Order: sequence, then C-alpha cells, then structure tokens
Amino acid sequence: MISLTLYDPFDRMQFGSDICFLCGTPTSATDTIPVFPGWLQQRYNLTNKQLQLLDKSIITYPDLTIPCCPVCWEQHLQPLEDKVEAAHDQGVAGFKALDEKDVFLWLSKIFYGILVRELMNEKNPLIMPEHAVGENPKMFIKFQAFYKLLQALRVPIVFDDFTPCSLFVLEVAETDDTVPFEYRDELTTMMFSIKMGRVVLICCLLDNGLLQQALQRVYDTINDKPLHPIQVAEFTARVYYAAYLLNIIPEYFERKASPSDDFLTYDTLIDDITMDIFNPWENSAYAKVLEEMWKKWQITREQILKNPQEPMTMLYDETGALRNIVSFPPVI
Ligand SMILES: [Zn+2]
Repeated sequence: MISLTLYDPFDRMQFGSDICFLCGTPTSATDTIPVFPGWLQQRYNLTNKQLQLLDKSIITYPDLTIPCCPVCWEQHLQPLEDKVEAAHDQGVAGFKALDEKDVFLWLSKIFYGILVRELMNEKNPLIMPEHAVGENPKMFIKFQAFYKLLQALRVPIVFDDFTPCSLFVLEVAETDDTVPFEYRDELTTMMFSIKMGRVVLICCLLDNGLLQQALQRVYDTINDKPLHPIQVAEFTARVYYAAYLLNIIPEYFERKASPSDDFLTYDTLIDDITMDIFNPWENSAYAKVLEEMWKKWQITREQILKNPQEPMTMLYDETGALRNIVSFPPVI
C-alpha cells in the first residue's frame, strides 16, 4: 500500500540531522546522502573540491549531505539517480528525452539539500548568515510551497494541468571552454543552474512555467544549437533576471484522493491576480546581472550599457541572427 500522506518539515521547522529530509522518519547518523550525487562527484572530480554556502562557510562536496532514510533512498531517490545518470551519459539528448518532472525533481533535491544546510546553519548561533531565510515570511511561504512539490520525489503526485517549473536545456559548443562543472543557486528567486560537461540546465523551480512562456521566443532561437559559454552565460542572465522580476508565488493544493486512488493530484492557484506577473524589465538592473555572469570575460556594466536602450548581446548580431562564436576565451 503506497502512502499518500504528505510530510511538511516547515510545519514545525524540523531540519535536524536526525530525521529524513523527505519523510520525517528518524534516521541514524549514517543515514545520509550527498546533496550532489556520488556519480556526479566522480564524473567531475568534485570529491576534493569545496563550495561556499550563503553564510560563507566552506564545505567539500562529499561533506555536503542530508539525512535520508533507507526507504526513501532505495525506493525513490536511487532509482531517480540511476535514470539521470544514464541520461547524463547521453548528453543533451539524454536530458531532453527525460521526463521533465524527473529533471525538475532531481534539480530540486540538490537545491533543497543546499537550502536545508543553510537552515541548519541558521540554528547555529555562532554563525550569522546574511539572509536569515527562516525569518523572512515571503521566503517561508515560497519554501513551503516548493517543499510540497518536492514531496513528489516520494509520493506519487500528478500535477494537474500545470508544470511547476521553467526548465531550459542548453548545449555548450566545443570551444575554448575549459570549465567542466559549475552550478549556481539563488534562494530568493528559486533559481538553480548546473553545467555538466556540454549540458547546461537552467531552472526556476517555483514559477508554474511563467519564465518559460516569457522567454520562449529567445529560447526557440537557441534551442538545439550549440552555444559558446559566453552566450550560455547571457541566456542564464536573462533567466535569472526575469526570475527576479517575477511577482507571484504559486500555491498548491492536494485534491482528496478517493480510497481506491494510489496517487495524489495537485491543483495550483496563483494568488493576487491584481498584480502584474512580472515587474518591468530595466536594462540597468539586467546589466548588473549580466556583468556578474560575464565576470570571467571581464565585460563591464558600462560596456554592456554603451547603448542604454539595447544592452550588449553575444547571442545575436546586428541583423538579429544568432551569432556563431568560435572563440572568446575567458580573461580570468
Ligand atoms: Zn524517508
């Protein structure tokens, strides 16, 4: 009998190291899983590498773990990892062939693993994080809604007529690019992106596909075309900035399952339709994000905004056609 009972750690802010992150079952000290899966760490030699969390603490990839009970691991997470690992070995085509829901849940688990670490660190009075996520009501609502989606890792859940996220799958051309693995996350906008070899996944994890709609025209021009990393960085900047402009937080409601159902159905609602979905696009603010994404090429905001009405683009030429950039080596 499949359990259709949802778990919500935000209910009582339970983020201990002794309960499963996905179902709340008590765990022993050895019941942990890496946030970045073992196969990924091996492929990209991450086992000795470090990453920095929001509170500026440094941790190695193998040390970044979350508590997970054996049932959740064996029955739900490991099968997903196997699927994603197999897709990974097929490159971009592999990821495109995967069910978008699987990619979403896989990315969400990593994002959430990092988030939980932030929340657990917040309980540590010695560490003063820049953004106290647990005390920000808007963030709290977002994380709780996001967690409800994350339950689909464990409970069979059908999203009724909606996609919870916006997922972009890009292909990096074989150029002067030397960075095999990168990731970026932003808790306030629920953005996550990851580069694995020649595949880049960019995802807003809680927008009901609104960014996808807003950026579809641009995405159509680059979809299935290998891009230079500087072009990937530009598209990434557009997505991250658009996520920053997004005004709404979706809500999710489970429809009561009938006794014979072996799955739950979620409906969604976007509250407060009086507000614009996106705040207006401002080139000066966008240029700031783009400057950050183009940091390794050392292109400054001033250069980007040479024409303030039309920020610099590496994606398109003067005629609006997609550029073919063969070489543009990073400066740093
Ligand atoms: Zn569990």
